[in-house]
Amino acid sequence: MNIKFNLNMIIRSKIAQFMVLFSIVLFVLIWMDTLSKITLEKQTEIQSTMRINANLAKAFEEHVRSILQEMDQVLIFIKDDYEKYGSVTPDMVHRIENIKTLPTLHISVIDEKGNFIASSRSKYLGINIADREYFNIHRMSDSKELYFSKPFIGRVEGKWMFHVSRRINKPDGSFGGIAVIGVEPLYFSNFYSKMSLGKNDAISIVGRDGIIRVRQTGEKMDVGTDVSNSPLHQHVQKATIGSYVNVSVIDNSRRINSYIAMPDYPLILTISALEADALSDYYHRQQRYYFTASIVSLFITLTFSLLIWMVLQKENMADELRRKKESLEITVEERTRQIQDAYDEQQAMNDELQAMNDELQRLSNVDGLTGIANRRYLNDYLERECHAALRLNKPLALIMVDIDFFKAYNDTYGHQHGDECLKIVATTLAAGVNRSTDLVARYGGEEFVVILPNTDADGAMLVAEKLRLRVEEQYLLHKKSPTNCVTISLGAAITIHPQEFTPLHLINAADQALYQAKREGRNCVRLYTQLNL
Ligand code: GH3
Ligand code: MG
Ligand code: MG
Repeated sequence: MNIKFNLNMIIRSKIAQFMVLFSIVLFVLIWMDTLSKITLEKQTEIQSTMRINANLAKAFEEHVRSILQEMDQVLIFIKDDYEKYGSVTPDMVHRIENIKTLPTLHISVIDEKGNFIASSRSKYLGINIADREYFNIHRMSDSKELYFSKPFIGRVEGKWMFHVSRRINKPDGSFGGIAVIGVEPLYFSNFYSKMSLGKNDAISIVGRDGIIRVRQTGEKMDVGTDVSNSPLHQHVQKATIGSYVNVSVIDNSRRINSYIAMPDYPLILTISALEADALSDYYHRQQRYYFTASIVSLFITLTFSLLIWMVLQKENMADELRRKKESLEITVEERTRQIQDAYDEQQAMNDELQAMNDELQRLSNVDGLTGIANRRYLNDYLERECHAALRLNKPLALIMVDIDFFKAYNDTYGHQHGDECLKIVATTLAAGVNRSTDLVARYGGEEFVVILPNTDADGAMLVAEKLRLRVEEQYLLHKKSPTNCVTISLGAAITIHPQEFTPLHLINAADQALYQAKREGRNCVRLYTQLNL
């Protein structure tokens, strides 16, 4: 059976529709569950990374703060000393030169004209930095704060550095110079290797001015980049500690960041992890979830396709069976009608045939000329009545009738008139018997036989005489007859002991009686009496 698996069939089948709907619901549930799990796990993973980064940022902040506090102590010592003595004392120079705990590029004192007047590195002496921004900021106002310069490439060292500095005042409060420490950014970022961060993780110190003091990612160090347009500053405005995810303005990669804005210094410390690294395990799991969901979806698709196909096939078979049954019923109905028609036709033909048979039967039993029973019918009837008489032990009378001088009649009036005369005599005889069982038949020529069942000799003689009289009373002209009209002679015979008698005996007996009637003058009735019948 060829089943076409098409949309129309599905639309027609309620069960198939339900299955399609059910499979769609399953799909939706599976994929909703998968996607929500994936989303949740991603959030969890990001939160976990943020927590780790936040802890690292805290440690980093403590690290930086302790360095800065140490540096500030040195600067405050120099400042106080200078302000106290109004010049660089040998003791101060000695101390500056011997500060080894701070791996700085230099620790220096600069007078109010911008000249290095004391330094841990002698090569700085005599250099003028009056044009430097950090110098002029101190000169312009006394913020009493530690100042962090923007990074720059040092004239002496020829590499990136920035300065932390404090203003020195003269006794009258006017600008007297600055105490400054030159810091190599790498020193701060060494924390990176200490904490053994991942090769794509980044730590950075960003000034509140948006300029990166140092940013370390793996081997790569970045200094001086302006990130004031990054989301970091907006986040810091809202909270001094926090985390967020963004696309880095430096390397264009998605990063998970945690930051701490230092309360004492104008610095923001950040630890950021590459999202791709942080979520690498998650991405593996995500692929597994997608794979599992796809396999389950495929399984559902195949299973439901098979089920729908089976349902449609079954329904289609049922449809086909129904159609066949209907067409069979129509055929049976058609055939039944045809058979009924044929039967009706047959019946009509049978009826017609029966009518014809009846007619034939009737014709075969009727004499063609006179219209009364013929010789054949007479024989059958006589046979039956003989048996009946025997069975019922009833008498049976038979009268033989013969027209007198009929040859002469024919000769006189012609054969055709003779026939007419025969018809009239026959009709007269037939009308002369009363009982339904009485029979008048033409025996042959101008001879007739009358059978009278259950009739004795008197009755038979009475009927015979009556018949004779009726024919005579017709007054059919017969010039050659002594009576001048057509007459008949009759011989009657009765069965008294029917068991000893046959139809032939009865006819012979009646014939003998007739012969006697002829002999004794004609136009009369004689009873056969010689034999005890
Ligand atoms: P009887 O008085 O002794 O009976 O004399 P009959 O002339 O009648 O006797 P017969 O038996 O010699 O004649 C019978 C005649 O009946 C012979 C025939 O001409 C005539 N006949 C017999 N059958 C028919 C018939 O079917 N039609 C006609 N027209 N005449 C018939
Ligand atoms: Mg005769
Ligand atoms: Mg005759």
